[in-house]
Amino acid sequence: MANTETPKGFGLAIDFGAVAPAPVPAVATTTSTAPTEAKLLILGSGPAGLTAAIYAARAGLAPIVIGGYAPGGQLMLTSEVENFPGFPDGIDGPELMAKMRAQAERFGSIMVDQDVDRVDLSAQPHRVWSAGREFRAEAIIVATGASALWLGLESETRLRGRGVSACATCDGFFFKGQELVVVGGGDTALEEALFLTRFATKVHLVHRRETFRASKIMISRVEAHPLIQLHMNREVIEVLGEKSTEAVMLRDTTPGATGAPERLATGGLFVAIGHKPNTALLGGALPVDAAGYLQLESDTTASQIDGVFIAGDVHDHRYRQAVTAAGDGCRAALDAERWLAERDASGS
Ligand code: NAP
Repeated sequence: MANTETPKGFGLAIDFGAVAPAPVPAVATTTSTAPTEAKLLILGSGPAGLTAAIYAARAGLAPIVIGGYAPGGQLMLTSEVENFPGFPDGIDGPELMAKMRAQAERFGSIMVDQDVDRVDLSAQPHRVWSAGREFRAEAIIVATGASALWLGLESETRLRGRGVSACATCDGFFFKGQELVVVGGGDTALEEALFLTRFATKVHLVHRRETFRASKIMISRVEAHPLIQLHMNREVIEVLGEKSTEAVMLRDTTPGATGAPERLATGGLFVAIGHKPNTALLGGALPVDAAGYLQLESDTTASQIDGVFIAGDVHDHRYRQAVTAAGDGCRAALDAERWLAERDASGS
C-alpha cells in the first residue's frame, strides 16, 4: 500500500487552511511496518476519519489512521453519491473514499488497514491495540462510524447495491417512478418511507408488528400519506431477482397465521431497522446514550476523556450524511490540534 513518510518534528501551529504545506513525498509503507507512535491517532477511515486526517496531516501532525480491514466506511457500500458537494456529475462511493484517502496520504497521514482490538484511554499516552501491535498517542479521534443493521437474508446480501439499500437519502433518487419497499417500524423507517415518496409511485412500509416504535408525529404523517401503504405484521423473508431486485416475499407474523408467503413486486428494498454505532472496541471507556451512541462533552468534539475527540456517525444518529461526518472530522482535527498545542505550551 502506497503511503507517505512521517515528517520529522511536528509543527503544532493550528492551520486553518490558508496555505497548504508542500506535500510530503510518498514512500511505500506497509501496515506491518507503519510507525506505532504519533501525536494523534485516528480510529476509523470513513469521511469523518479521513477528513480529520487531511486537516491533521496538513498541520504537520502525521496522524496514524487505524482504518479497519475494510477501510472507507459505509460509502464503500454505496454506488453513486450525488449529494457530496464538488461532484456535479456524482461520484461512486468507493472512488470518493479513495480520493479522500489519497488526499490524507498526500500530506503525511499513515494508513493502517487493520481493525482496532481494544483501547486504554485511562492514562497518557493513550494506547490502542491492533493486530498484536500497540499504538500510542497523546490525542485520539474516535471516528469509527456506525453500521446499518440488515435482515440477515442471503438474497439481501447478494442484491445489496442492486436494489437493496440501507440509505434512502443516498439511493432513493435512483428509483424514480418505481414501487418501493421499506422495512422497519422506527423513526428511521418512517422517515425513509416519507422521503421515498418524492421518487416512488408507491411506498410499501413493512413492519413485523402491529404497532410502530416510531414517534406519534411520524406515524400520523405516514398513515395520512396517499402514496404509502402499510403492511403490518409482515416480515420480508426473501428478496427476489437475479441482477436486480424484482420483488420481496412477505410472511404473516400474526401468531397462528398459516397463509403462504405473499409476493410483492418492487424495484427496491430499503432496510431501515436501525444502525449500530461501532463502539465495542472502546470497551465502555466512553459514555454512550440510550441508543448506544457516544456522547459529546460540550459543543466541541471533546469527549469526557482529556485528549479524546469524537467525530461522525459514532455519535450522530440524526444527520448521518457523508458531508456532515466530513465536517465533524474537520472539527475534531481542529479541536485535537488546539488541545495538543495548549498541552505543548503548558509543558505537560
Ligand atoms: P429503532 O427505533 O431501533 O427501530 C428499529 C425498527 O426496526 C423497529 O421497529 C424494529 O421492530 C425493527 N426491526 C429491528 N430488527 C428487525 C428485523 N430483524 N426485522 C424486521 N424489523 C426489525 O431504530 P431507528 O428507527 O433507526 O431509530 C434509532 C433512534 O434514532 C431512535 O431513538 C429514533 O427515535 C432516532 N431517530 C430520530 C430521528 C429524528 O428525530 N428525525 C430520525 C431517525 C431516527 P420492533 O419495533 O418490532 O422492535
